[in-house]
Amino acid sequence: MVTQYKNLINGEMRHADGWLDVVNPANEEVIGQVPACGSEELDSAVLAAREAFKSWKTSSFEERQAVCQAIAAAIKENADELFRLLTSEQGKPHAQAQQEIYGAAGMASAQSTLKLEEEIIQDDDTRLHRHRRVPVGVVGGIVPWNFPVMMAIQKIVPALMSGCTIILKPSPFTPLTTLRIAELIADKVPAGTVNIITGEDALGPMITEHPGIDKITFTGSTATGKKIMEGASADLKRITLELGGNDASIVLPDADPKKVAEQLFWSSFANAGQICVAAKRVYIHEDIYDELSAAIAEYAKNVVVGDGAEQGTGVGPIQNKKQYERVLELIEDAKDNGYKFLLGGDKDPSGSGYYVPITILDNPPEDARIVAEEQFGPVMPLMKFSDTDEVIKRANASDYGLAGAVWTGDTNKGVEIAEQLETGTVWINEYMHLSPFAPFGGHKQSGFGAEYGKEGLKEFTYPQVITVKKDNVVA
Ligand code: NAD
Repeated sequence: MVTQYKNLINGEMRHADGWLDVVNPANEEVIGQVPACGSEELDSAVLAAREAFKSWKTSSFEERQAVCQAIAAAIKENADELFRLLTSEQGKPHAQAQQEIYGAAGMASAQSTLKLEEEIIQDDDTRLHRHRRVPVGVVGGIVPWNFPVMMAIQKIVPALMSGCTIILKPSPFTPLTTLRIAELIADKVPAGTVNIITGEDALGPMITEHPGIDKITFTGSTATGKKIMEGASADLKRITLELGGNDASIVLPDADPKKVAEQLFWSSFANAGQICVAAKRVYIHEDIYDELSAAIAEYAKNVVVGDGAEQGTGVGPIQNKKQYERVLELIEDAKDNGYKFLLGGDKDPSGSGYYVPITILDNPPEDARIVAEEQFGPVMPLMKFSDTDEVIKRANASDYGLAGAVWTGDTNKGVEIAEQLETGTVWINEYMHLSPFAPFGGHKQSGFGAEYGKEGLKEFTYPQVITVKKDNVVA
């Protein structure tokens, strides 16, 4: 019998009437079961979170920080067990799973230092004018399957630090590590402040529409983000949406192909390309296109695609069957249209497991589906450009606006281009570095609001202004 993982509701580990299977994408075997919650379990979690909010909203900064640091410590102390479990449900290689687990502990620790100070707008003979932030209430957190632990922590910790309580729903594809963490922290967080419940996608809209929930913080696809915005409109819930991206990397002619090839490779292929901020369109100046594309392909040939639990694997399987089929469909479409491949394009022959060979395309057109859509898989389209203004236009010609990168020997030039890109984050000569203290969020259809830093914390609060008239008009 496979291990059954329970939910955390009101400080207790509980199950529901039914169970959902969780599959290892490396071999398609069932590795665990989680409760299949519906409205009854959600109502219990909401009741617990509402009750807990009554006292947690007035807790001190030190109390909140102690709880969040206990969460960080529990993750760190059990990192070995957790990263192995994460690889088995998510597919990412052990080294990348380790990074996520330690990254989540680091994120919890860093965000537990964040404080929103009260602001005195005016204090003179006439009046005292204070601006304070008050917690929104009960938060519904909904997360995807690509970084299940990191995403869960980056919702739970700021919710607690702002004085809110939370009900978190992991993706049905990757709930195991999060529920193991739930078990580890059950006696470290005050009952009802953190509730973690699992269910099919259908549990998502129940959370979005629940009248006992005051705010939704969501990470996932743009399509689901739109449904959440609609569902949350009934009672005007506050929302934060971290959505998809189709991030462009621009490589200028003064970049050294030997130095950037490996980094560019990983900017597209880490986590098998299933990263919202992965480089999904790579524009290379025509002067260095041949040399750089050959160097990337050469590096890629030595990267092993396989089971993330095996030593030496660089790129794991796609996390789930639906996404696997979508990536294969985009590759098939590129083949049908006669686009050139530098690498890949063939189906993996191994049989079980959702493996897609590393795929690099050679200068496909801008309107190719594999360029215009978010691939979210181990696919890298390389495109040629000759003029900076033209490439900025091409990079910005997207409904998405999450992140981007510029690779150049001249960082001033890089900044000049960065300032013209319509995205929430731009890196120059690196990729995916995110600070827990800088706001992270998308422009256009990549999101709504921000996470991280004080900007992110504010999203869990309302502003409240209290004005005291000093020259006595009453007595
Ligand atoms: P998804 O939108 O399918 O699912 C995300 C979560 O929403 C899951 O927990 C799912 O069960 C739930 N859900 C599904 N339908 C729902 C509904 N109608 N109402 C409420 N909840 C619902 O996304 P996914 O396939 O799990 O994740 C991949 C997507 O996430 C990609 O587009 C990727 O770019 C994006 N992503 C964005 C960020 C970011 O920070 N911007 C980070 C990671 C992933």
